[in-house]
Amino acid sequence: MTVRKRILTGVRPTGPLHLGHYAGALENWLRLQRQYECFFLIADYQVSDYADDITRVRDAVWEVALDWLAVGLDPEESHFVIESLVPEHAELTTWLSWFLPLGMLQRNPTLKAEMDDFGKKSVPVAFFTYPVMQVANILMPRANLVPVGEDQLPHVELTREVARRFNRQFKEVFPEPEALVGRVPRLLGLDGNAKMSKSRGNTIDLKDSAETVARKVRGMYAGPPRDAGEPGRVEENPLFLYLDAFDPDHAEVASLKESYETAGVGNKVLKDRLTSVLETMLDPVRERRAHYEANMRLVCEALEHGTSHARAVARETMVLVRDALDLDYLAKY
Ligand code: ATP
Ligand code: MG
Repeated sequence: MTVRKRILTGVRPTGPLHLGHYAGALENWLRLQRQYECFFLIADYQVSDYADDITRVRDAVWEVALDWLAVGLDPEESHFVIESLVPEHAELTTWLSWFLPLGMLQRNPTLKAEMDDFGKKSVPVAFFTYPVMQVANILMPRANLVPVGEDQLPHVELTREVARRFNRQFKEVFPEPEALVGRVPRLLGLDGNAKMSKSRGNTIDLKDSAETVARKVRGMYAGPPRDAGEPGRVEENPLFLYLDAFDPDHAEVASLKESYETAGVGNKVLKDRLTSVLETMLDPVRERRAHYEANMRLVCEALEHGTSHARAVARETMVLVRDALDLDYLAKY
């Protein structure tokens, strides 16, 4: 039997998943789940920015698992893992933080931007160190590949650095993982922010009803105001970014762009098209979700099986780590 290479990737349980997750991550995961042994992680240790809203975290664990099943991730093939139920993640984070210079965290551009979002609110220590835990998440199953959105690239780079240092100084325990960015590295938010993100509330969620999707699309920013029939610039209208991301008919999108710049195309035409493209994509997802919502026991079993397998793998890794560090005290005599 050939051993499949491993993938580790994950999501924070902060709300239901959105179109950015689909185009930036899930679509890749679906393609890769048969080729690789996948560990899909619900990173509930890494939501210290939601410490005052634990209810949301608890609900979001189920939302995320439901969304995964709804898009077609297969828990028979892959492991759905709840991070904190594999407490070895916390243990490995502690050891690895020995080998990660403070400056590397301070310079991490994603972390910097996310800390800026706290504004005047104070940043929890665990938030500052969450990238170290992400390093531990990736190294725990000794993953070879990490499919992520562009914002996570600095964390994968950090992981490679830590793996190199550890392997060089002690023993070759960890493969140096590669990052794999999805077809749409960073989907714009509905509010025009550079990233659609759960925390910013600028999302179209995979579970949104047809009416909600249509309403959100109607409300989207569509570039500077134009008179009816007036040509516009494609790059100033984010509707085209969404059509590029989700419309399978590339020729038609190209022709719309051409008309938009010459004869002019009304925003209503673009918005109606986007709504119908999203409807085609999301309708089967909603249907599968409804099936699992009516059978929550299946969702629970998926999480139980995946987590228990991940825990077994984590124990193996921790034996290797303690051996490499020469800290397996009681194994000596
Ligand atoms: P939060 O705001 O709570 O951090 P999020 O929307 O950023 O939520 P995460 O759970 O942090 O979602 O990210 C899960 C995965 O989805 C990561 O690999 C991330 O890069 C990817 N991802 C999230 N948002 C987008 C987006 N707008 N475009 C592309 N990829 C995305
Ligand atoms: Mg995020």
